[in-house]
Amino acid sequence: MMTRTRSMTFSVLLLAFLLRILSTSHLAQAQSVAPPAKLSVHWEELTAADFREGIHRSQGTCLLPFGILEKHGPHLPLGTDLLDVRYAALHAAEQEYAIVFPEYYFGQIAEARHEPGTVAYSREMQLALLQETTDEMARNGCKKVIIVNGHGGNESLLPYFAQSQLDKPHDYVVYVFDRRSPESGGPAKKTSIDMHAGESETSKMMIARPDTVHVDRANSESGADQHRQNLPEDVYTGIWWYARFPNHYSGDGSAATQELGKFQMDWWIDAVVKAIRAVKGDDVSLKLQSEFYEKSKHPLETQP
Ligand SMILES: [Zn+2]
Repeated sequence: MMTRTRSMTFSVLLLAFLLRILSTSHLAQAQSVAPPAKLSVHWEELTAADFREGIHRSQGTCLLPFGILEKHGPHLPLGTDLLDVRYAALHAAEQEYAIVFPEYYFGQIAEARHEPGTVAYSREMQLALLQETTDEMARNGCKKVIIVNGHGGNESLLPYFAQSQLDKPHDYVVYVFDRRSPESGGPAKKTSIDMHAGESETSKMMIARPDTVHVDRANSESGADQHRQNLPEDVYTGIWWYARFPNHYSGDGSAATQELGKFQMDWWIDAVVKAIRAVKGDDVSLKLQSEFYEKSKHPLETQP
C-alpha cells in the first residue's frame, strides 16, 4: 500500500515536472516572438503584446480624436467632425507614432437636439465618460493623453475638463489640441461666414471622405447668420447659436474645393504631428502636476 502511494506520488511529481518544462518552453517561445517593425496606430487593431510595444514606442503618448453626431448642413454626414478629425489624427500618428483611441462621439451638442440624428448626452455623462476614458487610457500606459478636438461645440467642455484634472491627483497629463484650420494662407476663401458645414469643413470632407459629400445639396438650405438676438458680444447665452444659425448650418458648403481641403487637411495633420512631438518632449507638466497635488494637501505650508 505504502509503495503504491509512493509510486503514485512519484508519477504525479514527474507529470508536474514535465508539464512545467513544456510550459516554460512555450513561454520561451512566446517571449522570443519579435514585435513587428511597423505597428498599427489603431488601438483596436493591436494585439495585447503589440499594444505593450506600442506604448513603449509612443513613449506613452496616445491620441483621443473627439467628434460628435450632429447635422452638418443639408449636404454632409452626421459624423463629419469625427471623420475629419480621425483622418487628421491617424495620418499624424503614422508620421509620429502614437496610439489612437477608437471612435469617440460623446461630447457636447445640446444646441442641435432639434435636428435629426443628433446624439446629445447629459453634461454629467459627458464628463464622467471622458474621465473614465482617459483614466482607462492612463491605466494602460497612456501617461500623455492628447485630446484632438474635431467639434466646435466641445470648445468650452475640453479646457474645463483639462482644468478639472487638478481636482484630485492623476498620474497622467491631459493635453487638448483644438485647432482645425490655419489662420491664414492657402487658396483664397470665397465666403466670410464659415463656422459649420461651410466652405472649410466641406472642403476637408472632400479629402477625408469625398464619398459622403453632397455638394449639389449645399444650397438647399440657408447657412446665413439670422441675427435673431440683440445682445452685446460679451453677453453669453446658450441659445446664441440657434439664434444665429437655426438650420445648424453656418456658411456655404457649395464654395468648397478639394484644393482648399487639401491645404487645410495637410496643415491640420502637420499641426497634430507637431503637437505629438511637443508632448513627447514635455517632461515638465507631469512633474509640476505632482508637485501641485502634493502642495494642495497642505496649502498653509505653501511659501511664495
Ligand atoms: Zn463640424
